[in-house]
Amino acid sequence: MFLYPEPLAALVESMRKLPGIGPKTAQRLALYILHAPAAEAEGIASSILAAREKIFLCSVCGNFTDVEPCALCQDLGRDSSLVCVVESPRDIIAFERTRDFSGLYHVLHGLLSPIDGIGPSDLKIAELLQRVQSGDVKEVVLALNPNVEGGATSIYLAQLLRPLGLKVTRIAHGLPVGGDLEFADTATLSRSFLGRQPL
Ligand SMILES: [Zn+2]
Repeated sequence: MFLYPEPLAALVESMRKLPGIGPKTAQRLALYILHAPAAEAEGIASSILAAREKIFLCSVCGNFTDVEPCALCQDLGRDSSLVCVVESPRDIIAFERTRDFSGLYHVLHGLLSPIDGIGPSDLKIAELLQRVQSGDVKEVVLALNPNVEGGATSIYLAQLLRPLGLKVTRIAHGLPVGGDLEFADTATLSRSFLGRQPL
């Protein structure tokens, strides 16, 4: 039985660790990297290292950034009384595409999921509470995916935020249940945001 030489086997194994990559694709990617001009392969490797070195989480909103605070948090043209809570930095990209949201964001980096052992302390919830109490935030829009975890997390957050005297809203339904916000088309996401309702 033929086995790849060790460095190639290690590369295939590394590719397999990427999300959505099965054994066949991992092999194809590894062979592509070997066939590619050296400069291209080096470019891929060095961009991975550079991203890991230079990108960190904004201390205010939790978004990926290379400056502190991030460009969105620094933007004085945005409405700092409105904070949109999202699960992941990918959701920020989706909302920014709609151009209908001019507030700030807060990234939880996950959703509550007792079955997976993910509790409030695993998410950026303490940071959110601290943030809304110290700034001029008036409304918190919960823009979490319409699945079980998203629903449970929204209710949990609303219970914590309402006693602070904040208006708490949730983006309107109309998104596919269990669907990912990042895959919703811009018009749907826009409608969902503009039709947000108190929670
Ligand atoms: Zn930020």
